[in-house]
Amino acid sequence: MFDLDRFTIDLDCPRCGFSTPAFYRQARLRAPLICRGCHCTIQLDDHMNECKKARQTIARAMAELEAELSKLNKKLVIRL
Ligand SMILES: [Zn+2]
Repeated sequence: MFDLDRFTIDLDCPRCGFSTPAFYRQARLRAPLICRGCHCTIQLDDHMNECKKARQTIARAMAELEAELSKLNKKLVIRL
């Protein structure tokens, strides 16, 4: 299973518009981020808990993928 905390998200600076990558973990923890364009400090604010919602959506999708792969395993014919 992949580590969602290490997944990168590209965020646009509200001051200069330059795109700066951030780890999911930084967004989840509302960590400050330094813009790669103007070097200002961007404060990440996830007041609607979008990170938590995204994690739940991804967990559901991974469970569905696992179930589908499990079904596929039963449908395959293995010949020697
Ligand atoms: Zn900037």
